[in-house]
Amino acid sequence: MKYSLITDVYEEIEATTKRLEMTDFLVDLLKETPKEVVDKVVYLTQGKLYPDYVGIELGVADKLAVKAIATSTGRQEREVEEDFAKSGDLGETAANLLTKKTQATLFRQPLTVEAVYDAFDRIAHATGPGSIDLKVKYLCSLLNDSSPREAKYILRMGLGKLRLGVADMTLLDALSVAYGGGKEAREALERAYNLSSDLGLVAKTVAHQGLEGIKRFKITVGRPIRPMLAERLSSAEEIFEKAGEKVAAEYKYDGLRLQAHISRKEVLLFSRRLENITDQFPDACKYIKDSVKAKEAIVESECIAVDPDTGEMLPFQMISQRRGRKYEIEKMAGEIPVAVFFFDVLYADGVDYTLYTYLDRRRELERIISKTERAQISAQLITGDAEQLDRYMNQAISEGCEGLMIKSIGPDSIYKAGARGWAWIKYKREYKSEMTDAVDLVVVGAFHGRGKRAGTYGALLLAAYDEDADVFHTVCKCGSGFTDEDLAKLLEMLKPYKISHRHARVDSKLTPDVWFTLGVVLEVIGAEITLSPVHSCCANAVRLGSGFAIRFPRFTGNYRLDKAPEDATTAKEILEMYQSQLKKITKEVVAT
Ligand code: ATP
Repeated sequence: MKYSLITDVYEEIEATTKRLEMTDFLVDLLKETPKEVVDKVVYLTQGKLYPDYVGIELGVADKLAVKAIATSTGRQEREVEEDFAKSGDLGETAANLLTKKTQATLFRQPLTVEAVYDAFDRIAHATGPGSIDLKVKYLCSLLNDSSPREAKYILRMGLGKLRLGVADMTLLDALSVAYGGGKEAREALERAYNLSSDLGLVAKTVAHQGLEGIKRFKITVGRPIRPMLAERLSSAEEIFEKAGEKVAAEYKYDGLRLQAHISRKEVLLFSRRLENITDQFPDACKYIKDSVKAKEAIVESECIAVDPDTGEMLPFQMISQRRGRKYEIEKMAGEIPVAVFFFDVLYADGVDYTLYTYLDRRRELERIISKTERAQISAQLITGDAEQLDRYMNQAISEGCEGLMIKSIGPDSIYKAGARGWAWIKYKREYKSEMTDAVDLVVVGAFHGRGKRAGTYGALLLAAYDEDADVFHTVCKCGSGFTDEDLAKLLEMLKPYKISHRHARVDSKLTPDVWFTLGVVLEVIGAEITLSPVHSCCANAVRLGSGFAIRFPRFTGNYRLDKAPEDATTAKEILEMYQSQLKKITKEVVAT
């Protein structure tokens, strides 16, 4: 197929702003395209060589392009740069200088789509020493056979600046008309695209096998599925109005979405944007492999940073340091360990689950996942009660989550790949507050440490003092901020206070491994004070069924040996801190 056929259409596409007109041009182009190269035409039109998830970049830099243009037009690089300074587009520059080329073009071979694709493919795969010269050579060989118009698009393609503005959906429309028998085929084509994230493959399938072939299209392990996305609401009442009388509320973990493809030979991880990020998370691959019992599966999960010793969730900023790394991956995996929370299954051992309802998928997820220390299924509550939902939201936040993901459980609650809809709703807080002061809390209990902390305490249960009732109410479980010396010291320091039961003046909904009588006071700071159904501090003061918790609590290193338990921060002070946080937020809202 002649490359000029494509570039003529590109020219027309660039001249229009109307999507329908653009679609018509593409339909004409596709009809003229031999079936064998339709995938290549589709990729090239999108300025790519492969679907995005393959992650191969062309890697032509401006400098390299200048060199190639100079060589094939017989100009000095300086002259090319001067023209580029005026045009701002190396594609235009290539076309300008080729037009002025005086040499006869008698020896030009007409460029074909296959030759262009092949040359770019070689450019993309050229690596190591000598690869720059090789890339210049391939680019020159294309330019030598190009017309000025072809040269313009070749340069833009190589530089990753084709930008015709042809959206995936426009190409799907055009493919439906050109090969699927009409616009009605669009839905089936879109589904095939959502299941494969590969427009070239969809084009090839519909060109060779028609709509029937598209309808037989299957999920393939290794090809990412375009993710289902959520709408957003900010009140429980609105949620029940939109999502039905009863919904499933899942913890919304604040990490990175991982779509894991498990086969007999490997685990592949794809990001929210479907990049292959397997190499960045060897630890997550292992945890997933260890906990997924199916031989082949595609599961979705959120990967979050955790405190290795306590298993507690850490803020998003931690996991984001693991993203995009090419070096020191193992070292970072040691420094910032992760845990995986599965929230959906799309495929398992030959069954496509995307058309199953939410509850059926969840059942399957529970069947194929065995819980390990670092991988488990997302926490979930099915409820039709707004107050219960809000309590669950506060619980999720106080444990380090961002909020809840609300999922519809109705008969149409299938996995809508590639679509944003009301079947999933993000329920997050609109504004975040900040805890500015540290507090002094009494150690009332402790949890045994695991891993590196085996033999010491992993986390301490801490309480604030309620002067009126003369009781100590728990306000957080704190496992962060302790050095190895602190842990050893605390073990000794707390020994004399150990008792076999909850102290009569301690009010706690949690049951730690060890209880203490009141004695040791520690200074702690956190991210913010949040409502929580798990802690008893100021229970019911602001909301029925909820107390206060300190989110992401951390020991400051300060042992308040100078303080008696009754000198600890009071529950009233915690309430005041919460109220001043709220005031600050209100001020910010008003200011914006
Ligand atoms: P988008 O909705 O476009 O993804 P965003 O990147 O801002 O926008 P978020 O507001 O973070 O997305 O919310 C959606 C993300 O929440 C999901 O993509 C997923 O990574 C994450 N998530 C955490 N827990 C869950 C869960 N239990 N179920 C589904 N998604 C979850």
